[in-house]
Amino acid sequence: MFVDAHAHLYDGDVKLIIENAKNNLVQKIICASSDIETMQKAVAISNENEGVFATIGIHPQDAEQFSAEIEIFMKKLAKNPKVVAIGEIGLDYHYDGPAHDLQKKVFRAQLKIAYELKKPIQIHIRDAMSDALNILSENKKLLKYGGVVHCFNGSKEDAEKIIGLGLDFTIGGVCTFKNAKSLQETLKFLPLEKIMLETDSPYLAPEPVRGTKNESKNIPYIAQKIADLKGIDIQEVARQTTKNVERVFKI
Ligand SMILES: [Zn+2]
Repeated sequence: MFVDAHAHLYDGDVKLIIENAKNNLVQKIICASSDIETMQKAVAISNENEGVFATIGIHPQDAEQFSAEIEIFMKKLAKNPKVVAIGEIGLDYHYDGPAHDLQKKVFRAQLKIAYELKKPIQIHIRDAMSDALNILSENKKLLKYGGVVHCFNGSKEDAEKIIGLGLDFTIGGVCTFKNAKSLQETLKFLPLEKIMLETDSPYLAPEPVRGTKNESKNIPYIAQKIADLKGIDIQEVARQTTKNVERVFKI
């Protein structure tokens, strides 16, 4: 059995996507959210579908949406037992989005919410690794309930720092790309006990279906790549990554 620890399910025929996933042994899916609208959708989809769970959070590119009212709203939503984490939260300097200072403020505020709610976090970091690592290190106390760095694509040194903070990694289709040599090297070094699988669907479909609309059913391609890189059996990747999800997200 596999788990897709980070997918965006709110587009397309959700029932069919979930059914396709289950037919490919992907039995559980964590549906991530990024703004007010997708938080509500993710929670609704998790309520309606067995094996689907939700995260709630304001993505750094939507940092302007965050407010005291949203904090109250998130705390209300989090009472639903299907809400398993706060995310995606973090820093994204790739686009001309919200000012970096605002992103940092909203990231810190949501780390605090996760701590208060006793929930793990799901972190998005793009072109902002050093600022993100600084914020995480300065707020280590708030990381008590663990969490993951999603779509991790950093160096070995970054990975070591993240492990030192007690966090894990969710690894997606990028690791199957031919030009992802440095991530592949990092994956050889990362302990399997720290890795979970994700699609980040509908984005980032893995090889050999790269360029198509990604779905949770593609998780086994990512698992196979990790198995190949580590010289182990795909069954072992399935077993351990599922165990890691259970440890962090309590599902
Ligand atoms: Zn995502």
